[in-house]
Parts: sequence; C-alpha cells; structure tokens
Amino acid sequence: MASTRQIHVGPVPVGGGAPVAVQTMTKTETANLTATMDQIRTVAEAGADIVRVAVPREQDVEALKTIVRESPIPVIADIHFNHTLALKAMDAGAHCVRLNPGNIGGTDKVAEVVAKAKELGTPMRIGVNSGSLPKHLRDLEFTNPVEALVTAAGEFVELMERLDFTNFKVSMKSTSVPNTIASNRLLSERIGYPLHLGVTEAGTKWSGSLKSAVGLGTLLADGIGDTIRISLSTFHAEEEVKVAWEILKALKLRERGPVLIACPTCGRLQFDMDSVVVEIEERLRAYEDPIEVSVLGCAVNGIGEARHADFGITGAKDAGMIFSKGEPLKKVPTDRLVDELFAEIDRFYAAGKRVVRDEGAAAEAARWLAANEDDSQMTPERLAALEEAANEQAGGGDDALAPLLDESVSPVAGRRFSRT
Ligand code: SF4
Repeated sequence: MASTRQIHVGPVPVGGGAPVAVQTMTKTETANLTATMDQIRTVAEAGADIVRVAVPREQDVEALKTIVRESPIPVIADIHFNHTLALKAMDAGAHCVRLNPGNIGGTDKVAEVVAKAKELGTPMRIGVNSGSLPKHLRDLEFTNPVEALVTAAGEFVELMERLDFTNFKVSMKSTSVPNTIASNRLLSERIGYPLHLGVTEAGTKWSGSLKSAVGLGTLLADGIGDTIRISLSTFHAEEEVKVAWEILKALKLRERGPVLIACPTCGRLQFDMDSVVVEIEERLRAYEDPIEVSVLGCAVNGIGEARHADFGITGAKDAGMIFSKGEPLKKVPTDRLVDELFAEIDRFYAAGKRVVRDEGAAAEAARWLAANEDDSQMTPERLAALEEAANEQAGGGDDALAPLLDESVSPVAGRRFSRT
C-alpha cells in the first residue's frame, strides 16, 4: 500500500504521493571537505534529490556544518551508536538524521534525539537492517526473517509515536531480495509512514543493479516506496544515482533525460552497432528532455517497433536512415549516422520542438527503406509480434500460452513454439 504520510527532507517531499526521491550516500571521508563536496556535486548533477553522509566522528559532525551550507541538495546525517553525534548533527543543520533506535543506547537516548528533532523540526529516518535486529528478535530472525524485520520496524514506529513524534520515514534493509520485497509489502499494510527502499550490500555495479531493479522495481510497481537508494560496491556514488533513475524511468514513475531504445541485434546486423549505441548514449547525456531515441541494427523490419520513437536510426552496411515518429527523414552514410542523428535532434530543438523535414531527403530515405525492408525475414521483432497476435487470438490467459502459429510454415518451428 502506498504511504499516506509525507515528510520533507529540506525542500524535498517524501511520501504521501510525492515523486519517488532518489538518494545516495557519499563514499568519501566526510571530514575531507573537498572530496565530499566534489562527490555531492557530482551526485546532484547525476540527479540525486538527497544525499547522505556518514557521521561517525566529531570531525565529521564539524564538517557537516559546511557541507549542509554548501550542498546543492539536502543532506542526511547517518549516525550509528552515538546519540550525541545525532544531536550535534541536527545542530549542524542536517536536513534529516538516519539512525537505528535499537543501537543508539536505550530509550532515554532515543527520547533525547527525538526531543531535539521536534525542537528543530528535523525529520528522521528510522530503520533496521537484517544484520542488526534487536536481541529479542534474533530467534524469530532464524525462523521468520521477514516477520522479525517488520516487528522490529513496528516497534520503532510505536516508540516514536509514544514520544509523540511522527516526522519520520522507515527503512528495513535486507541483503535478500525476496525478504526486502516481502517485509516492505507487509510493513506498508501496517503503517502509513513513508518508506525508504534499498537492498543492502547489493553488490557490484552489475549484480547490485540487477538485484535492486528486481527488489525495488517490484515494490515500486505496486506503489510501495517513497525514496530509494541503490547500494553498489563502487566509489562512484553517481553510478547508484544513474541506476536509481533507470529503475524509475523504466517504471514511468519519473522522467529525466532521454530514453534510449536499442534492438538486441542478431545475425542480420550489418554495422558496428555496439559502439554506435555507446556513443549515442554518451552524447544524449547532454540533453535534459525525455525524448526517446531508437537504434535498429538493420532495416528488414522497416521502422517497426521503433515507430513511436522521437528519433531513431536504422543502419546497414554502407548507408542507413534517420527517422522520426515512424517517418523516414534522411538517408546517410553509415559512418555519419550518429552525427546526422544529433544534427536532426538539434534542428528539432532549434525549431521549437518541431521536426524539420526536407521532403526530397525524406523521399530518398523512404526509397532506401523500401529497398532494404524484407518482410519475408522472421526477425525477433516479427516473432514477438506473431506470438502476441496468436495469444490475442487465443483470448489471453493460460490458454494463450499455446500460440496459434502454423508451425509448418514457421522457419523457427521447434525453437520457440514447441509445446503443441
Ligand atoms: S532483425 Fe531486429 S534484432 Fe536483428 S539486427 Fe535487425 S532490428 Fe536488430
């Protein structure tokens, strides 16, 4: 269930229907002001709405004063074990304090921190990690780790409410993706406070991104989760931010910058599409608009599934074509495809977001497309379209799993449609 309550971390609303906020954590020694501020500016540039910094020592809380003052985005102080640092972090102007009420030294100390938070209007993130559950839940953790996490979080919420404090969000972190999903689903049924989502210690950029996309994506698709942090084993915190944005963009929860679509390529590929896609992705970073750009490895499908793209290219051995919204724009030599694509995109913006069409060039491109299109080819796209049509014909549902293709005429008989 989606959260019903909203808090504000600095000016950023979290929960209660606000856009899902992207956050990350600096990986520098916090007291190293130059390095920390550099990383904060980098993650802000990459799209972080909020940044968290570790505050384990007095010199870090001292540095926090400058960090809060100079940071372009709100700063959360991450505190463990030491309630005095939490108090000082709030005095230093932290926009939010993250702590685990179970490891801060007892209820009295939690109450002291809460009193300061109320006095200064500072929100808190309270949370538990699967590795740091309260002692009385350790047995339950072995038999039912999800219930153990949710019980711990529920107890912390009750403690905050007993202290008459509601200006907080809640997090439950687990290294297990299924447990992250199950515990957040369960907790979201029980409380209306905003939820911070993350898969803790997710791993390297590759595996951690996938784990996070599965875990957080599943929850976000259900409307659960108000702010996300992708935990990756890399010094470059901006990578976490980029992954977070890709998840939100994939779910159409937020828009930021262009969307690049590329075919998976197959044996029909006739040009070096790998490097072309990388170059396009790199050059698209300079654009802020959420335009959709598509790259097709060959023209046998025509423009096909890329019909909706704002701009796209389809390549071939010596020449390729640039298209827009399903219409050919221009035929160009393959080695000029990327430059000409960006020339068209820039022309579009210069004309006030209007596609500028040269009818002669468009006609030449259309002729090229007609000559290269080959509807006898059973491409991955056509197979998918056939499968979809067959499923629709079967009326959807389980019966639709047996496609109504005539396998005897399919050149891939025995490959994908072998169940009948
Ligand atoms: S057939 Fe489809 S997947 Fe293969 S290269 Fe052409 S567009 Fe890409």
